[in-house]
Amino acid sequence: MKPYELTLRESRDFAAAEGFDALRSSLLERIETLNPKLNALVRFKREDWTGSPRLASPAGGELAGVPIAIKDNICVKGLETACASKILKGHVPPYDAAVIEKLKGAGAVVFGQCNMDEFAFGSSCETSAFGPVRNPWDLERVPGGSSGGSAAAVAAGLVPAALGSDTGGSIRQPAAFCGVVGLKPTYGRVSRYGLIAFGSSFDQIGPITKNVEDAALLMKFLAGHDARDSTSAPEEVPDYTKSLRRDVKGLRIGLPEEYFGAGLDPEVEKSVREAADVYRRLGAEIKTIKLPHTPYAVAVYYIVAVAEASSNLGRFDGVRFGSRIAADSLKEMYEKTREEGFGAEAKRRILLGTFVLSAGYYDAYYRQGQKVRTLIRQDFQKAWESVDVLLSPTAPTPAFKIGEKLSDPLAMYLSDIMTIPANLAGVPALSLPCGFTRSGLPLGLQLMGRPFDEETLIRAAYTLEQEIGITGRKPPL
Ligand code: GLN
Repeated sequence: MKPYELTLRESRDFAAAEGFDALRSSLLERIETLNPKLNALVRFKREDWTGSPRLASPAGGELAGVPIAIKDNICVKGLETACASKILKGHVPPYDAAVIEKLKGAGAVVFGQCNMDEFAFGSSCETSAFGPVRNPWDLERVPGGSSGGSAAAVAAGLVPAALGSDTGGSIRQPAAFCGVVGLKPTYGRVSRYGLIAFGSSFDQIGPITKNVEDAALLMKFLAGHDARDSTSAPEEVPDYTKSLRRDVKGLRIGLPEEYFGAGLDPEVEKSVREAADVYRRLGAEIKTIKLPHTPYAVAVYYIVAVAEASSNLGRFDGVRFGSRIAADSLKEMYEKTREEGFGAEAKRRILLGTFVLSAGYYDAYYRQGQKVRTLIRQDFQKAWESVDVLLSPTAPTPAFKIGEKLSDPLAMYLSDIMTIPANLAGVPALSLPCGFTRSGLPLGLQLMGRPFDEETLIRAAYTLEQEIGITGRKPPL
């Protein structure tokens, strides 16, 4: 095994035994060979990350010497953090996001920053100002989005693990498309301090890793209360690695019938149903259940999330952050900066969001959207009375072709249909590789759980992963 093929835990052990330099050179070589094809990392210059003082003493923390790539919307002190947008070009945060503080505190090394859809708006990584990311399993296909750079980087072995963010599926859908593990924690579980906001009532940071064990290892450091994020929860953080055991006897698993309807690719459906059979064989109880308001989820999300996005993006005006286009008057400077700085999808969302919040339309759209969001939350609350986890596909299809949906925003939005509900309800959800199409594209299933019960997701995912043994398969690069 080459060092770049190692998982996060193995990388840590390797760095402790052989020293970080051996790991670093193997990864750098891999990045230099493959990143020009994949465009998964946007910053990976040697000088960006050589300076971690903790590397001198690998014994210094539980993640000592573990290289982690960071999505370009999570602030890293002293490194440009641009959300893959022209408007944030040159924005160098003077502070670390809470998750970066914690990872660095445990000895991990920020090892490159990941490409993404501009401001995390998208499901394909085609809206990035840095150009599209390619799927390591098929370079003609998208890696998913918006954390597609993170998922592609992990799948291709450029880094053992990465951080993503998930507002409507951005960790899970790219994880599924690239054949890796992605966990969106419960809303409030991980501090959003230092995450450049998209939809503040949805956003969560989470791990993208090669296997379930690594996700559990990272969660230990990501989770926890932080007074600087008022929505961060005081819940105690369990030791997630204790959930790494094969044990689903008596676990009640619900298959939401709305997730298995029209538009679902037959190969996706088959692999998820086979996973359900495996769970049944291992002693879990499989039931079909109803989440009746699911058909409204995409519409509600694209009202409420864009409303939040439009107000969050108001701060990018050329005055405080990033780039500025000079002009004769202040108003003209704002206009030119925003006109030049935002890409087409960001503009679409700013317009949509401003529209649904505007006087006269607020009641018809935004308020109505919030009401239906409550109904969707209640669907989940009701489900937890009879099941412990929900099992579904992560996305209705495998990775689609670059360009296939770019000119049809509605088709793109519909690809989020299975991931959006967990964000609307705030529940944790995990995507696990569960098979391959005949043409060799990875497929993912989704496990959703009760609020703050990431442990059951990790246990159920670990059990299946060990049983079907397909994680860790490498793309033919
Ligand atoms: N694809 C969804 C969107 O475009 C979700 C993005 C995300 O989770 N950041 O909004």
